[in-house]
Amino acid sequence: MRRVSSAENRRRFGDVADNWLVTDEPILSYLTDMDGVLVHEDHLVPGADQFLAELRDKDIPFLVLTNNSIRTPRDLQARLRHTGLDIPEAAIWTSALATATFLDDQRPHGTAYVVGESGLTTALHEIGYVLTDSDPDYVVLGETRTYSFEAITTAIRLVERGARFIATNPDATGPSREGVLPATGSVAALITRATGRDPYYVGKPNPLMMRSALRRIGAHSQSTVMIGDRMDTDVVSGLEAGMRTILVTTGISTRASVEQYPYRPTAVIDSVADLVGRTSHPFD
Ligand SMILES: [Mg+2]
Repeated sequence: MRRVSSAENRRRFGDVADNWLVTDEPILSYLTDMDGVLVHEDHLVPGADQFLAELRDKDIPFLVLTNNSIRTPRDLQARLRHTGLDIPEAAIWTSALATATFLDDQRPHGTAYVVGESGLTTALHEIGYVLTDSDPDYVVLGETRTYSFEAITTAIRLVERGARFIATNPDATGPSREGVLPATGSVAALITRATGRDPYYVGKPNPLMMRSALRRIGAHSQSTVMIGDRMDTDVVSGLEAGMRTILVTTGISTRASVEQYPYRPTAVIDSVADLVGRTSHPFD
């Protein structure tokens, strides 16, 4: 069969067709989840440093993604450096940045009441948002380790009065050495219970997070691979954003669990260490 070009596909079938018909485009860029793929909290996944070094040596554009909205890219860069990973600040994409990009697009120079930490407030300041509790356009909920009853009460009252409810990520829990921690999704549920309003979640598994990441590095979905450790977030959102996906088994999802899902990744590998030496052709 004659291979048709991307441009020809677009002419014939519209943009959507690209993702389905062009499956052997060369890999030109990577999106990779952070926790469970490159690090386990403060510990390096063995070989992750070599994998990232190869991307940089080959000038392959990449972004490291995290659904956690607590930290700014600069803080994350410093933390990652401690674990032995040297990642430029500009190569880190958080759900807070994706949320700010979304709001900047939807309602430029708007106002928001924020329940969250510096990762989120800094991202909103950078797009020119005014943070206020006086009749804001949005209530934006992110992750913090110090949820205050007073702040949540204010958020509930503002949502009741018509502020649009946004949350950075739907994760119900996050990891810690001592056990699970309640995360953004759990606190969002509290506000939803009180107001009857569901938030719009911007982070994974919303493919919006992937699309904004792709735009950030000027990459195209059909020539980008998404690497993640979770079928229900990384793989599904990579797939829905039109990318090929690689599941690594250094985190949450196991090889056996893959079969339980109605979708599957393009490839399953033990670790990103297995990609060293083949980053230009990961599926060969
Ligand atoms: Mg992960």
